[in-house]
Amino acid sequence: MNRMRELVDKLNKWAHEYYVLDNPSVPDSEYDKYYDELKKLEEESGEVLPDSPTRRVGGEPLKAFSRHEHIARLYSLDKAVTKDELSAFFTRVKKVVPSHEFTVEYKFDGLTMCLTYEGGNFVRATTRGNGTVGEDVTAQCLTIKSFPLTVSYKGTLEVKGEAVIRLSVLEEYNKTAAEPLKNARNAAAGAIRNLDPAVTAKRRPEIYFYDINYMEDGAPATQAECFKWLKKEGFKVFPYVRLCKSEEEVEAAIDEIEVGRRNIDVLTDGAVIKLNDVAVREILGSTDKFPRWAIAYKFEAEESVTTVRQVRWQVGRTGKLTPLAELEPVDLAGVTVRRATLNNYGDILRKGVKTGSKVLIRRSNEVIPEILGTVEHTEGSIDIKKPEVCPFCGAEIAEVGANIFCPNRLCRPRVVAKLAHFASKDAMDIEGFSEKTAEQLYDETGLINASQLYKLTKEQLLSLEGFKDKKAGNLLSAIEKSRTVPLDRFIYALGIEGVGKVAAADLAKSFKDMQSLRAADSQSLVALDNIGEVTADAIVGWFEDNENLAELNRLLSYITPQTKKVVTGGVLAGQFVVLTGTLPTYKRSAAQKIIEDNGGVCQSSVTSKTTLVLAGEEAGSKLEKAKKLGIKIIGEDEFKTMLGLQ
Ligand SMILES: [Zn+2]
Repeated sequence: MNRMRELVDKLNKWAHEYYVLDNPSVPDSEYDKYYDELKKLEEESGEVLPDSPTRRVGGEPLKAFSRHEHIARLYSLDKAVTKDELSAFFTRVKKVVPSHEFTVEYKFDGLTMCLTYEGGNFVRATTRGNGTVGEDVTAQCLTIKSFPLTVSYKGTLEVKGEAVIRLSVLEEYNKTAAEPLKNARNAAAGAIRNLDPAVTAKRRPEIYFYDINYMEDGAPATQAECFKWLKKEGFKVFPYVRLCKSEEEVEAAIDEIEVGRRNIDVLTDGAVIKLNDVAVREILGSTDKFPRWAIAYKFEAEESVTTVRQVRWQVGRTGKLTPLAELEPVDLAGVTVRRATLNNYGDILRKGVKTGSKVLIRRSNEVIPEILGTVEHTEGSIDIKKPEVCPFCGAEIAEVGANIFCPNRLCRPRVVAKLAHFASKDAMDIEGFSEKTAEQLYDETGLINASQLYKLTKEQLLSLEGFKDKKAGNLLSAIEKSRTVPLDRFIYALGIEGVGKVAAADLAKSFKDMQSLRAADSQSLVALDNIGEVTADAIVGWFEDNENLAELNRLLSYITPQTKKVVTGGVLAGQFVVLTGTLPTYKRSAAQKIIEDNGGVCQSSVTSKTTLVLAGEEAGSKLEKAKKLGIKIIGEDEFKTMLGLQ
């Protein structure tokens, strides 16, 4: 008996070193020798210890999977695919818990598993299934060695992990397989959800553990402690996890993962961000679908490596100076990329970007790609300096938090950006007014405020290069047309820092007119879904500025913002709709109006909330994503039928 105990301990230690720590200390032949001895002893005595490695045999093929209910529901996570969506998550969290820590870890792309222990012994493995009920894959799981058969905790326990197949293992397998496996995600799912445990064993999946789903006497108080506990008990845990104290630190960790995932042997498709403190999680709770305290940031973008030629500073409509990197042109999914954005000077330092460095860039939904990090410096790499004066007007730079500003309201690029934003499609939608028009008007007529557009004469326009009778006439009528505009677009057009389209719509819906919005205090602003503290302060600050107020009054003497009717009920009530591609007869704006008039909500990108996609010709990645998520997709014809329009 003592010998048996000794053998089991020895074999388990070696297996742990081999499968969990990736650091074998004995050759396979040595392991096999002791394993055989143990097996023989067990046969002779008819006794098998609960943590004996001989229990890790999958057994005979099953006829069907039995189903099993999880003790606690296995949640899946809400997803963010843009930095905007990520920042919306922080805004929502901050409202409830202003100060907090997050953990950031890799999001592995495999099959989510739940392992149950009772009285310290492994009893069952299930797939996530629908979150409540999963398939019993105990026999399959027993062929995997990256988890312990016994744990020191004696209560009922469920741990959660992701079954994966290493990329190198997949490659190896495909070399000799009659039917090569397409990708590591399908391979992992296929290996586990396979009725024959021998097939599972052959495909060599592993499990990375990352959560305690249920612990009878309460789980560890934080995510960081949870990782520690899992490791201590012998579960395989991926070595990367970051504890972050701010949104910036989280973003830095995400970038780190984005760069790092190229060098690891496991398929990853993003990062998982969780509130560290379990007690705080409980305050936040969950929606009917997802916990509110965690989010998965998914990488979906095209990436490439190229060299930074130089960094220029741009002045935006609020005066903020943003670094723009000029790059050696590089092809990214069929588009030649020459420039990439960086957030601010701190971002340059954090990412180690220098002139002449090789950097990793990503192009996603944003028009201009961003720099994720530096891959390597070259001999000629030069540090980038922080400007002390505005490169355009020479005004001394003002620093506010992490950002630097040109304080000069008349600074040319600042005025131009403000005017172009005001006239843009999602704002006042003045057709025919481009950034170039703004530059010309600034240079030739001294126009500095949007309100002056409404006093423009044809003579003034005709004096500008490229403006003939027709073009001038068209622009004037477009300006005239913009005098009636939905309130949300007017609010967006004002260009208040942090107030994007979504926030503007929120403000319009809640305050109904400019007078009420102007009177709003921070508190009532923060109460809105899409307004965080910083933006609330920016809004209040904007209305406290006399120059802004004077301009607002001038604008309101020309423009009549309209409050939108809110449609309740309607054929599309409760639907979140995404438009993509070119429709045969409807313009995008027309289709959008029909959707909203029928109670639907239009979204700019496909998210987990999306319920319907209206797709036309040349629908691209949005359609792909919708297919992947199994969202209902319709064409214009079906759309018309649905609404009784034909
Ligand atoms: Zn300036």
